[in-house]
Amino acid sequence: MSELEVKRTKLEMAKMPEGMEGPGFFVTSLEKVVGMARKNSIWPLPFATSCCGIEFMATMASHYDLGRFGSERLSFSPRQADLLMVMGTIAKKMGPVLKQVYEQMAEPRWVLSVGACASSGGIFDTYSVLQGIDRIIPVDVYVPGCPPRPEQILDGVLKIQELVENESFRRRDSPEYKALLNSYGIE
Ligand code: SF4
Repeated sequence: MSELEVKRTKLEMAKMPEGMEGPGFFVTSLEKVVGMARKNSIWPLPFATSCCGIEFMATMASHYDLGRFGSERLSFSPRQADLLMVMGTIAKKMGPVLKQVYEQMAEPRWVLSVGACASSGGIFDTYSVLQGIDRIIPVDVYVPGCPPRPEQILDGVLKIQELVENESFRRRDSPEYKALLNSYGIE
């Protein structure tokens, strides 16, 4: 049974991080505890511009219920969001707005690109449409499809959870990460 199917059929506690256990004690690293807490309490900011946004509404509703993954609290303020979910066609005129939203998010932040339009411009191979949001901001996970089904969006969120859980404290201060942001003109 897949992780998604298990979550669909029963409520389960968050998995304990690896560590040493004995009578009356449990020892693990701070990084693992923080990773577990972050993984299970991601606050998404939905940046939905068109049809993929409708699939996201289904993902939030009772049949699929993103709340089962600790993400029912949507943040429409970038300052309190961890995960930017971009869903829909992004016109070039909207690019600077999307980038500003990303820049207003505090670190650590992650980006999920949902659907063909956000990931590559989709069927809109035209002068006015951005051919993928990774031209203006770094993307962590891409969800294919036009539109992707809610199961695919949930799968994308699970992939983000994996990254969140296993990210080291040092990554955001590393020269590689700074170089990545600099390549997008972000300080
Ligand atoms: S990928 Fe398809 S469903 Fe999603 S916004 Fe583009 S055209 Fe609409």
